[in-house]
Parts: sequence; C-alpha cells; structure tokens
Amino acid sequence: MGKMYEGMQSFASQLSFGSDVSLRPEATASVVRAYVEHGMQVQPGNVKLYYMGPMFRRERPQKGRYRQFYQIGAEVLGQSDAPGIDAEVIEMLMRLFEKLKLKGAILNINSIGDKNCRPAYVEKLREELVKVREQLGEDSKRRIETNPLRVLDSKLEHEQPIIAHLPRIADHLCDACKTHYDEVKRQLDLRGIAYQENWRLVRGLDYYMRTTFEITAPGLGSQNAVCGGGRYDGLVELLGGQATTKGIGFAIGTDRLILSLQEAGEGGAPGGLDVYLAWFGGAAQSAAISLSRRLRDAGFSVELPAVEMKFGKSLGLADRLKARHAVIVGDDELAAGIFTVKRFADGSQQKLGEAQLFEYLEASRRAQA
Ligand code: AMP
Repeated sequence: MGKMYEGMQSFASQLSFGSDVSLRPEATASVVRAYVEHGMQVQPGNVKLYYMGPMFRRERPQKGRYRQFYQIGAEVLGQSDAPGIDAEVIEMLMRLFEKLKLKGAILNINSIGDKNCRPAYVEKLREELVKVREQLGEDSKRRIETNPLRVLDSKLEHEQPIIAHLPRIADHLCDACKTHYDEVKRQLDLRGIAYQENWRLVRGLDYYMRTTFEITAPGLGSQNAVCGGGRYDGLVELLGGQATTKGIGFAIGTDRLILSLQEAGEGGAPGGLDVYLAWFGGAAQSAAISLSRRLRDAGFSVELPAVEMKFGKSLGLADRLKARHAVIVGDDELAAGIFTVKRFADGSQQKLGEAQLFEYLEASRRAQA
C-alpha cells in the first residue's frame, strides 16, 4: 500500500495543471495569423509563403491516414483574387509532381461559390438530404445538420446513387463566382494543365470559397488524395486583418506522396549514388580523395571507401550500394593519367581522362533526369 501511494505521489508530482496544449491540425490559419501579425500586407505584390511539418488529427487510422502526418503547403496572400493566381499555384504543384516523377496524378477542380451564393445552395442541399435521410449512413445523417456539403465527400457505396441525384453547386453559382471559375479553367488551359471537374469536391472548413482543388495519385487505396487546396478570401479578415485581403493555398500530404512514389517503384527525387570511387594503393588514395572533392563540387554523389579493399570486394559493394558508376583508380590509371569508369546499367567500361570523365558523368545525369 505504502509503495503504491508513493508511486501515485510521484506520478502526481509530474502532472502540471493549467496549461492546455493543442496540436495543430493544419497550417493555413497559422500562416494567415503570421501574415496579419507581421503586417505583411505592406510587402509589394502577392506574398507567397510556404511551410512543412507535422500535423495532428484525431482520425481513424488506415493506409495513408494517420494521426500524425506531414504536410508541405504554400499560400498566396494579397489584394488580388485573379484566377491567374489560382492557376499558377496549381501549375507549380503539377510541375513539382512531374519533377518527382509522380505518375498518374489527376487534378480535380470545383468552385464552391461564395457567401452570396453558397448559403442558398447549402439550404437547398439540406432540404434534399432531409428527404432521403433514412437511406443515409450515420455520418451523413449527422452532417445534414452540421455541414451538408461534407455529405458530398462520402465514399459509402450505398450512398453514391443518392448523392448522384443531389443538386449541384455549378447550377447555383452567382454570376461573379461563375465568371471566376470559368476564368480559372481558361487560365489552366493557357498553361496546358489537364483537369477534371468534380462537382462533389468540397472543403471541410467554412472559410473556403470559390476555387477548390485536389490531386489524386495511384497506389493509395481509398485515401488517394495527395494534395488539397482552395481559395479562402475571407480568412484574413476573420483573423483580424484587412477585409480586402484574398488568399489561396494548398497542402500536400507528404506521407501519401512518398507512399505513391514507392508503390510506383520511384524513389522520389532523383537520388542514389552517382559514383563509387574504388581506389587501390596509397598513391591512388590521395588521387581519389582529390577527385572525390571535384566530383562532389560538380554535384555528383560519391562514395569513397575509407580503407583499401580488394578489387572484387570493392566492386561488389559498389553494386550492392546501387551505384550508377564505379570509377577505378589504381597504379595503371595513375601512371597513364586516366580513370576507368564502369557503368553498372550495361556493364560497359571505358578509360577516360578527367575532363572526359566529367563529360561522361554529366551526359549520364542528363539522360537520367
Ligand atoms: P487537408 O489539409 O485536409 O486539405 O489535407 C491536405 C492533404 O494532406 C490531403 O490531400 C492528404 O494528402 C494529407 N492528409 C490529410 N489528412 C491526413 C492524415 N490523417 N494522414 C495522412 N495524410 C493526410
């Protein structure tokens, strides 16, 4: 008993009361708060900000959905809501995914109206949902009251035919929102960006308006969105800033992005080892050390063994490290002032002077990009 009491006492002494801790679920509001707090509205042009970091949500975990996950996001804040901004933000994203070799990414877009036209649409949606209430699942039933738009998000199989008959926001946009949306699509066309219109694409938070978008990628199962974004023109005002400030942004789910790349067999950004620098003999080591520096300065990744190894063992390690090339420096090479380079992809081998070696590796890097 005494022991237990002591244990409880020590536990109690570690508790501290009166300090509530919240874990951030997303970062858009924080970025906007920082924009307002630091008076960034005086900066010239649109203010473009980015962040990356862990986010926390109390969700039912499954593949691609975690309680702690990572996001990379960007926001554009300023006095303009020109549709060209929306399109440029999307263009940047699609370009990033292209560079990362994310295959099969699909851009979905929609407009969810603004405070002039959305409330009437939401009411209409609610009226229709009430009529089919008994056929809906528990989540959707609850959302009729709390947030009818979110019913459109539902993935429940038996709700799909019901949702297909619900009123669509595109038929209820006011003229200003409709013009804005048409221009976003034209601006995407100007940039050669393919998109699908998805009338069921909505955002969970109230301050989103007009343009919403989502990018899906293969290999993720039901949680297939790698990025979500949208316009939130009223948020700056809501957080105490200038009423005229507009904003748009997105967040990439880093975990899902990596998962999709892995499922497709892509390691992500071009990585791996460009050169394994195999050296044999003390004199060769010093030549290899200085060559490795020049190679690294030129942006190649280099593995330089710290101790001398037997030829077979050294080349075997290069292979296991998945090096693209082995550059060999031994007595013969030193005497002739050349390097032997072996390309693992096809087993070809050549003897090259240093300038030629760099040209050869550059060409190989270009071919890989
Ligand atoms: P959101 O902030 O809800 O618009 O989400 C933006 C992106 O973050 C989504 O498209 C997902 O890629 C990712 N994401 C959101 N919630 C989670 C989660 N619980 N686990 C992993 N990734 C998530």
